[in-house]
Amino acid sequence: MRVAVLSGGVGGARFLRGVVDAVDPAGVTAIVNVGDDLDVLGLSVSPDLDSVLYALAGIADEERGWGRADETWNALSTVEALGGESWFRLGDRDLGLHLVRTQALRDGVTLSGVTARLAAALELDATVLPASDDRLRTWLDTPNGSFDFQHWFVARAHRDPVDRVRFEGAADARPGPGVLEALHEAELILIAPSNPYVSIGPILAVERIRSALERRRVPCVAVSPLIGGEAVKGPAAAMLRRLEGGTTAVHVARCYPGLIDALVIDEADAHDADALGVRAIVTKTLMCDAASRRALAEAALDAVALA
Ligand code: GDP
Ligand code: CA
Repeated sequence: MRVAVLSGGVGGARFLRGVVDAVDPAGVTAIVNVGDDLDVLGLSVSPDLDSVLYALAGIADEERGWGRADETWNALSTVEALGGESWFRLGDRDLGLHLVRTQALRDGVTLSGVTARLAAALELDATVLPASDDRLRTWLDTPNGSFDFQHWFVARAHRDPVDRVRFEGAADARPGPGVLEALHEAELILIAPSNPYVSIGPILAVERIRSALERRRVPCVAVSPLIGGEAVKGPAAAMLRRLEGGTTAVHVARCYPGLIDALVIDEADAHDADALGVRAIVTKTLMCDAASRRALAEAALDAVALA
């Protein structure tokens, strides 16, 4: 089956592992958020692309939830000891990837080009595409000021309530090579249980991606990142409460107006099933091991029958 999956970092990466377990990975294309990308210590870092690459390669740190397994932190300790910029956590193994990507970008390779190289070196069978090769950056307007994504999320621990999410560069950002093709060729489009505002939002801010979804001829199914009205991790619930007025599955569905045909929700949210405005697929949505990741992916993939 050919499937295109819109994805952020951790939640998206977990879900993608289930998807490539459930169907032939050769038919799976991940379209990944780049709004979190940053330059730090002279390196070009793409946290969500890396989470997806590491997860699909089976080298992600599952307990920490981000970065690589068996990680050490010698380089960052040295940076800190020398008074360098150390707020953004970069492990030694992780740094190796950033070195390779940064050099390639400086040599004029595109982000999609270097991502394809990395995916090939990691022997991935699935395709991993940046949503855009163009510069697109997420900004958060808060009562305490405006912050770029990583300063808000990491340095300020996403404590500032968000009044507005903005995507710098989105108006001019083109879909990355292969993105529109993947959406047009897919038999099913999935939106991973990623943060709707800061992980999926930047992807949908690319006008031609959004319009491809609006004009889809195949089902598009999102998976809710909330269980019982709470995020499994991160600021999704707090953002929904402030920006959408609540954290029920109905509020999650409203994040994707006209873009989805079904929403996968947890059994804990089953009471909202009839009020979503789109079809509800009720199942267990906590991904705590390979079996639960695969079962969730299968529940979403079954929606291909809605076509
Ligand atoms: P980030 O880019 O690393 O912040 O990751 P994503 O945006 O892709 O994923 C973050 C979202 O994943 C959070 O809103 C979590 O609630 C959600 N999430 C994480 N693990 C799970 C899970 O096991 N099940 C569900 N339904 N959502 C999850
Ligand atoms: Ca992210």
